[in-house]
Amino acid sequence: MNLILLGPPGAGKGTQAKLIEDRFGLKQLSSGDMLRSAVEMQTPVGQKAKSYMDQGALVPDDIVVDVVFEHLAGFKGATGFILDGFPRTADQAAALDRWLSEHQSLIDHVIVIAVPDDLLVKRISGRFSCVNCGQVYNDYFKLPSVEGVCDNCGSKEFKRRKDDNPETVKHRLTVYHGDTAPLIGYYAGQGKVTSIDGNAPIEQVTGQIDALLGTTV
Ligand code: AMP
Repeated sequence: MNLILLGPPGAGKGTQAKLIEDRFGLKQLSSGDMLRSAVEMQTPVGQKAKSYMDQGALVPDDIVVDVVFEHLAGFKGATGFILDGFPRTADQAAALDRWLSEHQSLIDHVIVIAVPDDLLVKRISGRFSCVNCGQVYNDYFKLPSVEGVCDNCGSKEFKRRKDDNPETVKHRLTVYHGDTAPLIGYYAGQGKVTSIDGNAPIEQVTGQIDALLGTTV
């Protein structure tokens, strides 16, 4: 089973992708994570992508498509994948459809996680994560129970994404509405879209996804 998680930045795609990975044995493929790791390792792709990412702009399609397809090819034969953050433009979606048909594969469900913009700004600009285990926290909604100590692994080191500041977040939301949200119509035309209320508590969002996937695994 192959899935796409679609939704604005901060909708909880990464959090839900990790939970789906655990429960359904699928592999999360996050284009944002791939690009961040390329930037960190200062690869040629990373050097090209960095300035776009810092501004909250989309990295050009040809760069992203190459990176994502390289990872996708590595999962041939595995149980299935969850695309998180890809595709984000009509050209990326078309390239993905071509890749899937060349590899006799297809997308089973496109899960849209919907959250109002005003909430997203707080969710993104407040978020930080544990350097050691990746557990995600938020200044407004979820602080560690003991200040400065990760609930999950006890680490005292946390990090924030450079593009998670209020100005960049607003730009990322504009880009989402202009370039990415139209993909909902594209996939609805293929009969694949299920919309989920991402404003609900995490467990309820997970429950809605389970209800969709539980019968199809
Ligand atoms: P994310 O972690 O998904 O929020 O992505 C962080 C940043 O990486 C985005 O703001 C873009 O600059 C870049 N990025 C991630 N995925 C894509 C994509 N599919 N197309 C273009 N840029 C992307």
